[in-house]
Amino acid sequence: MSLREEITAAGMGELSKLLPGSSLTNYPPVEKWQDWVELDSKDWAHGKKTKRRFSLIPTTCFNCEACCGLLAYVDKETGEIQKFEGNPHHPASRGRNCAKGPATINQVHDADRILFPLKRAGKRGEGKWERIEWSQALEEIGSRIGKAFKEGRHKEVMYHVGRPGDDSYMERVLHAWGLDGHNSHTNICSSGARVGYAAWMGFDRPSGDHANAKVIFLISSHLEAGHYFNPHAQRIIEGKMRGAKVICVDPRLSNTASMSDYWLPVWPGTEAFLCLAIARLLLQNGTWDREFVRRWVNWDVFLRETRPDLECTFENVDKALIDLYAEYTPEKAEHICGIDARKVREIAEHIGRAVPGRLSTHNWRASAAGNEGGWQTSRTLFFLNVLTGSVGTEGGTSPNGWNKFIPVPPKNPHPHGDWNELTWPKEYPLTHHELSILLPHFLKEGRGKLDTYFTRVYNPIWTNPDGFTWLEALTNEDLVGCHVALTPIWSETAWFADYVLPMGVASERHDVASYETHMGRWIGFRQPVMKVYAEQQGKTINRTYEANPGEVWEEHEFWIDLSWKIDPDGSLGIREHFESIAKPGTPLSIDEYYSHLFENSIPGLPDAAKAEGLTPLQYMRKHGAFAIPGNQEKVHERVVTPSELEAAKAVRDAEGVYRVPGTAGMHDTIDDVHGHMPFIGDGSLGVDIEGEIRFGFPTPSRKLELFSPTMRDWGWPEYSLPTWIPSHVHWEKLDFERGERILLPTFRLPTLIHTRSAQSKWLAELSHAHPLWMHPSDAEKLGIEPNGLVRVTTQTGYFVIRAWRTEGIRPGVVAASHHMGRWRLDEQTGTPGWTAGVAALSGPGVGYGAGDASSDGQWHLNQIHGVQTFESGDPDSQRVWWSDAGVHQNLTFPVQPDPISGMHCWLQHVTVSAAQPGDRYGDIAVDTGKSMQVFHEWLAKTRPAPGPGGLRRPLHFARPVKPLATAYKMP
Ligand code: SF4
Repeated sequence: MSLREEITAAGMGELSKLLPGSSLTNYPPVEKWQDWVELDSKDWAHGKKTKRRFSLIPTTCFNCEACCGLLAYVDKETGEIQKFEGNPHHPASRGRNCAKGPATINQVHDADRILFPLKRAGKRGEGKWERIEWSQALEEIGSRIGKAFKEGRHKEVMYHVGRPGDDSYMERVLHAWGLDGHNSHTNICSSGARVGYAAWMGFDRPSGDHANAKVIFLISSHLEAGHYFNPHAQRIIEGKMRGAKVICVDPRLSNTASMSDYWLPVWPGTEAFLCLAIARLLLQNGTWDREFVRRWVNWDVFLRETRPDLECTFENVDKALIDLYAEYTPEKAEHICGIDARKVREIAEHIGRAVPGRLSTHNWRASAAGNEGGWQTSRTLFFLNVLTGSVGTEGGTSPNGWNKFIPVPPKNPHPHGDWNELTWPKEYPLTHHELSILLPHFLKEGRGKLDTYFTRVYNPIWTNPDGFTWLEALTNEDLVGCHVALTPIWSETAWFADYVLPMGVASERHDVASYETHMGRWIGFRQPVMKVYAEQQGKTINRTYEANPGEVWEEHEFWIDLSWKIDPDGSLGIREHFESIAKPGTPLSIDEYYSHLFENSIPGLPDAAKAEGLTPLQYMRKHGAFAIPGNQEKVHERVVTPSELEAAKAVRDAEGVYRVPGTAGMHDTIDDVHGHMPFIGDGSLGVDIEGEIRFGFPTPSRKLELFSPTMRDWGWPEYSLPTWIPSHVHWEKLDFERGERILLPTFRLPTLIHTRSAQSKWLAELSHAHPLWMHPSDAEKLGIEPNGLVRVTTQTGYFVIRAWRTEGIRPGVVAASHHMGRWRLDEQTGTPGWTAGVAALSGPGVGYGAGDASSDGQWHLNQIHGVQTFESGDPDSQRVWWSDAGVHQNLTFPVQPDPISGMHCWLQHVTVSAAQPGDRYGDIAVDTGKSMQVFHEWLAKTRPAPGPGGLRRPLHFARPVKPLATAYKMP
């Protein structure tokens, strides 16, 4: 029975109208998008029916990674964007958005946005700027980089991305430049979860089919926040309406927990223990999918490696696993995790009923991003998918790569052969992404320097831990020669840049992106709305900044023009990658780039376009998204044909895996390969499963790896199997009597973005409070008054915040959301006044804004005032009624990179006390000397490369901008 039929049968027929494809018309039909008429909403309120004509132009949202569809309503009379609504043609968001989608309009019209390229006029951080032309910025930055390249200083050029936009464009640019210069925000976000997933299946993310699940198990507040949460939230609720049980593990009563059947507020960092206790019960109860495990798990390796006393037959697997996890009983889980043993049994029974194949799970950020060993959270959670046979099934969880599509860009350059130890240091051979949080620490201790450093929609001083160490590095011109901030908004970091270059928001730029939102693949097309509108009017626009507000540009064109400036005569071999295909010797245009990409890289798109009499580019400009045809269920079972094996010259190894000789699985032959490594995967094509060659998973065995030979071979044999690692904040290590508590600083409010919230008055009006969540019993014990000021002391400093007594948090844990604590140093300029207060900043030997050099050698940030009304071109800035700018708690967190995943372990072991005399709300104090000390303590936990074959990192591990195989060999 379909969901619609079920709802109708249940007597809720009206509700079915809300389902996708219902007859209720929520959206203008596409054939009217170029000339849509509706009544003016303000006049309508006054009884006047004024018709307004619009051109509706699709784009995609840029306010989180989900890339939901938006329709920009361009008023034909004013020529301005009036509003954004959902794009019903988008396969993931299906016309719906969260609050942040429509709030794009605030970003477009923000009166305080940066409209023109700026160059620093005084000292870094002094706040003096001059407006320059784009041509000057390109000339100065391009010639600087060109000089570095000519002198062989490729490692001194770095691109550091916060919010990515396009799935393949920057890979292409960096390969063309021939450098390992990509840096990301990932190890403050998801490195932990990625390593746990990759250990099982090669792919680093889950893709839950929540709508069809019987049990939805979330270790996160995924219904309200997190990756792809709007597309997933729709489907989680669909699943719930069909009767699925929703289980939410979170120490905090999130909105997600409040919508769940079970809220399990376990002690932070014990989630893996809980999952293994459930796994053991599934095995004991016999509620597991034996056939799936027999067929697709490397159980034979597990038995051989761990139980030589047992015969290596599948019949011994459950015994061996039950023995292995003997201590993970419900009763022990009650002690370790702090939840009732009966609940653990009850949940295991629910999950057992989802066999076969109907358990969808999700972990992202949350525990995996909070704890040392947090990567085992996703690994043990996915273990439940494996045991229940819920991998690649309807209602199960697939590898992300099966539901995401990354097109191959045109003129794709050969991979670079460089390795940058500032981002991929030898201490972290298994990290999933760059050790980005350690960049300033590495610079300060002399591991390298940067000539030109791009931050791109990235605000590390505010977003990262240990922001003052970032500030120290970014203001030292010997460490960072030139800092270029590519940003749509003023930020704490942009203030310390040399060039501030305005980049577009969702309706001002091109990007193609695709995400694993459901079982199926799609691509979304972000486009500069005013450029498209101008072209609809018959105008010619050469560069997007000609149509965008002010001279706001887009990165795609910027990188093309900059590459021409870096290599004006083509002698560096760079320019050729940015030349037109049709007219060599002239710059590649974005239309040409995407025409080629859409025509040649997207299965089914040319036919769909042809059916409408359009080119693929015209189709994407018209619809904004495309659902790639095909069934993505059980991709691992696909048969690899003999002709495919022959074409790739794959040969069978002893384990029945078919590999292309000289690729990742055969790293002993690396010297012979000269780097002809594929970008993705490990060079294997399939695996023999009972006489048939099947596609499998991109692991060395092409099976799901219960036992990970990679962990064993790379120095962590104790973690060859899914296990629980006690967190650095494990509750048994805390002295609660002395006021020690666990600080949870990672949860997000669903209505806030990161840095870009400050550009949106609507979002600021919705969410503008920053309390410290504290259980009443803790408040009593610690002597904290209701709404009283609290001093929270970390290893490197302290912050002062206001307490909120709530039973929505586990006793022993206190919590404050991120996304708040914004500041600027100047009354007129800087992070917009919708969210930012004005602060004084004092450090050893320096002062910024109204701050003087500190007298105690520490860094101090003190609020002068919170959010206030302010002067701007927007009359609403005089109507601001809220005042809380929040507390910039991240400044007081030292870096705590997990020794395996490299993930910053966000949770803090803190001491909580009532504020001291003289403490004021928002006060921050930090000793960066201690920060360096803590950095070294965590560094000492690592087990550095080289690994087998003298490599820096396993060749089969994915990584951004993957270099040639030869670069993996340590000198
Ligand atoms: S979930 Fe919200 S913020 Fe994220 S892309 Fe969708 S509409 Fe935008």
